[in-house]
Amino acid sequence: MSGFSIAALSRPELAELSAYSPDLASYRVRLDANEAPPLMSAAARQRISEVLADGAWERYPDPSLASLRRAIGQSLGVTPEEILPGVGSDEVISLLLTAFVRPLPPADTATVLTTTPSFVMYRMSARCRGLRVMEVPLDTGWDLSVEAMKSAFSMSPPSIVFIASPNNPTGNLMSLTRLEQVIAAAPQALFVIDEAYIAYSDRDQLELYRRFPNVAILRTLSKLGFAAFRLGFLLAHPDVVTELDKVRLPYNVPTPTQRVAELAFTELEPEVKRIAREVVRERERVAAALAQLPGAQVTPSQANFLWLRTAPPAGELYEALKQRGILVRSFHGRGGRLGHQLRITIGTAAENDELCASLAELT
Ligand SMILES: *Cc1c(COP(=O)(O)O)cnc(C)c1O
Repeated sequence: MSGFSIAALSRPELAELSAYSPDLASYRVRLDANEAPPLMSAAARQRISEVLADGAWERYPDPSLASLRRAIGQSLGVTPEEILPGVGSDEVISLLLTAFVRPLPPADTATVLTTTPSFVMYRMSARCRGLRVMEVPLDTGWDLSVEAMKSAFSMSPPSIVFIASPNNPTGNLMSLTRLEQVIAAAPQALFVIDEAYIAYSDRDQLELYRRFPNVAILRTLSKLGFAAFRLGFLLAHPDVVTELDKVRLPYNVPTPTQRVAELAFTELEPEVKRIAREVVRERERVAAALAQLPGAQVTPSQANFLWLRTAPPAGELYEALKQRGILVRSFHGRGGRLGHQLRITIGTAAENDELCASLAELT
């Protein structure tokens, strides 16, 4: 008889978690993951295959990520020492949660604070490290509630605060004055402003990074046509980057990803901007169409997806769309005010038309 039990070895937090498993059934129209539609030009695809063609594949990747850091730095007008690339923003989030979570006495675990609803990885990544997670509800307009944030700070001072702006799944930017107030109210915490969707927005929030020593900005190529390559990065003050470099695995970003990402920040930058412009144009067209649905309400979006309030329960629409081969994102399982909301990624014009036609029939 073996006395071995993996449950006895697992961290207790794992009992309440399950592996991230997107619906793998094949749908004709996948508008569920906020990927960009396939709008890349043949010339751009050609350049990508060229830089991938002559690899020294028997060699490890550049562990210093020097060339990529330079390219990103130049594109943003900052130094390479302020850039920390990772295998998607997901890896950067996990590095932050490894490095900056010393418990603040008298607590014996650090607190990570975020908003709800927001991107689930902040919570998942923190929970599987045994960290305490506080989720502060957004207000009725899906914006920050400064009062609620301040009262959470006083209950349990956070080490790291994650704020997605534009937020996923609601698509809106947080108001700048509220961000300023919240950042000033917790000067000991590191604020990570997640700008995954900033290419689709009217403005960015780099001024917060310039003004506050406790602000870092998280970005990714995943929502801009490069999801397959897995490249995210943090823009942070050099002392922050120095610490994160200590916990980063030395060869974390594969050579093909380093090369293609470098292209995205240099030669292919105009291409990326063109794709973003086309998606924004399409977003406005789809938003106007969906607003015509009876009882529907579309939150003005600064991202590549729409946050739609539906008259029928979201779960019913979600299932009915699936029957038609269309996958969107629903959060009805979480109940409350999310029970009548769908998150719909902007796809190709044909995909969007099909979605609009189906929703018109179903509502
Ligand atoms: C999709 C998304 C990301 C991207 O994660 P990657 O690991 O870079 O693919 C990060 N933050 C938010 C808010 C997102 O919605």
